[in-house]
Amino acid sequence: MKYFVNENCIGCGLCVETCPEVFVMTDEEVAKAQQCELEEEVDERAREAMEDCPVDAIENA
Ligand code: SF4
Repeated sequence: MKYFVNENCIGCGLCVETCPEVFVMTDEEVAKAQQCELEEEVDERAREAMEDCPVDAIENA
């Protein structure tokens, strides 16, 4: 699964806490998703981060 952070991000940092393997904060203080092959356990946390994002800024493909 690949993840993307859209323009709704308010930079709350929750996704970075939940799954730092995928989500990082940028210099603009919003999150971005790093693209890489994800182990199942990491992907589960990335999906959890997507579901928990307060502004639905994380999308997957
Ligand atoms: S949880 Fe959502 S709003 Fe918060 S930093 Fe991540 S993408 Fe942005």
